[in-house]
Amino acid sequence: MEQMIQEYMTQVKAFFEGHREEFLADLAEMVAIDSQRTEAKEGMPYGEGPAKALAKTLEIAAGYGLYTENWDNYVGIIQLNDSKERKLEILAHLDVVPEGKGWTVTEPFVMKEVDGRVYGRGTADDKGPALAAIYALRAVKELGISLNEDVRVVVGCDEECGSSDLDYYWTKTSPAEMTFSPDADYPLINLEKGHFGVKISGKLPLASDRIKLLRAVCGTKSNVIPADAELWVSGEAEETAKNLLAALEQETGVRSTMAMEDQNLHIELHGTAAHAADPDMGNNAATAMLQLLAGLFAEDEPMLQALRQIFPHGDGHGRAAGIYGCDDESGEITVSFNILNIDEDGTLFAEVDSRTPISMSEPDFAPLPSKLEAAGFAVKTSCSQPHYVSPDTPLVKTLLAHYEEWFGEKGECIAIGGGTYVHGLPGGVAFGCAKQGVDNKMHGPDEFAEVDQLLVSGMLFTTAIADLCK
Ligand SMILES: [Zn+2]
Repeated sequence: MEQMIQEYMTQVKAFFEGHREEFLADLAEMVAIDSQRTEAKEGMPYGEGPAKALAKTLEIAAGYGLYTENWDNYVGIIQLNDSKERKLEILAHLDVVPEGKGWTVTEPFVMKEVDGRVYGRGTADDKGPALAAIYALRAVKELGISLNEDVRVVVGCDEECGSSDLDYYWTKTSPAEMTFSPDADYPLINLEKGHFGVKISGKLPLASDRIKLLRAVCGTKSNVIPADAELWVSGEAEETAKNLLAALEQETGVRSTMAMEDQNLHIELHGTAAHAADPDMGNNAATAMLQLLAGLFAEDEPMLQALRQIFPHGDGHGRAAGIYGCDDESGEITVSFNILNIDEDGTLFAEVDSRTPISMSEPDFAPLPSKLEAAGFAVKTSCSQPHYVSPDTPLVKTLLAHYEEWFGEKGECIAIGGGTYVHGLPGGVAFGCAKQGVDNKMHGPDEFAEVDQLLVSGMLFTTAIADLCK
């Protein structure tokens, strides 16, 4: 890093340390506004919450003498001055996911500091990082750091429900030369795998002369490995089921309960939930149920047996499905079978989520739909491209150099299975603000951000801006 930047470091550190309480007071005001997306209202495409959070955030920024614009309550922009050009853009968001239940430290919209952490919905995702970026602009301004090129912070209002805020934004302007988004993890994400989705339907009335499947349900979201499954069976199934469940638990670790309910057998299976991009972290109740069903209806059910063979329990990487693939940059493909519903008349619906390496493309996934179709199922697929930025770009190298300077840890690129706010934006990377290995409980109860992590991020953004826009 250049001498010039090194000289700023002391001043920048002192600025953030001196404004710690003010930063937390501003963040508390932002967190106090429940900004989950609700029904659209006149001039408020995402409802009142996101619009109020945007107004408050722009008011805070304007209070520090920064230039702000509200773009129809889709996004707001914050700059040092009113120039239209900018070299660097920082994308953060102000909308939040629903608060949910189970908060123990504070109410979700009442920010509380405990042991160097601030708890509340949005502290980590993504109001805290958004404010750190705004404070970086404030620091540049108040410390009199001179820039030859401009920087813009964009605060969006719809990241959590599909990023239509940015779709709107890109209809009004074109991307800056460089973009990063502090809405993920450090050190820096330069690779987001592609996505391949499969919806499976078919008709397979599961009945033998002894037993009949009344209903099977498992999974609600295609991107979550399901923890629980339930099924109801009529007829003489108790003894067979008991043996199969004991074997299932021994083989897979999936636990079960079994009870009689109105003359029918009711079975529940309990595995472990995980994100679809991390199948090895979960214990999939849907594939366990498939295995159980295949045992219960062994005779004469070729469609069921085929499905079980394509998605054996424990195979999270598509080996049996015939689409295994892997490369050094991305790691392995993930393939998870996350929804399985069968009605009394045998109507089956299932859904599969796959995160795909950059070296693979749609033709490589064809063996899966063709196996399913050969077994008699109807299949609908969807495919989206991976996102990749070379580690050798000036943006990536500069951000990582500043990261090493401020955090004292090795700055390196990482690959993830999910998509971030910059997915599909050429050259865009996700950078901060979560520390690797720390679970900030984003989207869950007791979401928190470490205060020092946010403040050091603000310092890092300040010197990175000074360097990139000099
Ligand atoms: Zn986010």
